[in-house]
Amino acid sequence: MIATKEMLRKRLEEERARLLSELSQLSIGGSGATEDMTGEHAGYGNHLADDATEIFEQERNLALRRNLQNLLAMSEHALHKFDAGTYGRCDECGGPIDPARLEALPWASLCIRCKARQERR
Ligand SMILES: [Zn+2]
Repeated sequence: MIATKEMLRKRLEEERARLLSELSQLSIGGSGATEDMTGEHAGYGNHLADDATEIFEQERNLALRRNLQNLLAMSEHALHKFDAGTYGRCDECGGPIDPARLEALPWASLCIRCKARQERR
């Protein structure tokens, strides 16, 4: 079954909320800040946190944050397109974006052909 636009919009709004909360967690205090929230890392002592690990963590957080910000920007752009009435249309050529593509990637703003062309640049 193909998702309706309302369903996609809802997913985008949820995605945006999730990304915002992940980003705010990332910006609190850096390494170790998530420990008491998840408890996932309990048992891994701080003795592992030597300089190399610290730098690795910072690099990883930076890459993660960049990735989240990128997704957030795409989700917000897609939500703007809903408001503008252009959702489901390609930013580049104005043609329709394949509904199956939107279902997999609700924030997609280019049709598959324009996307492929962009990646070849
Ligand atoms: Zn296109």
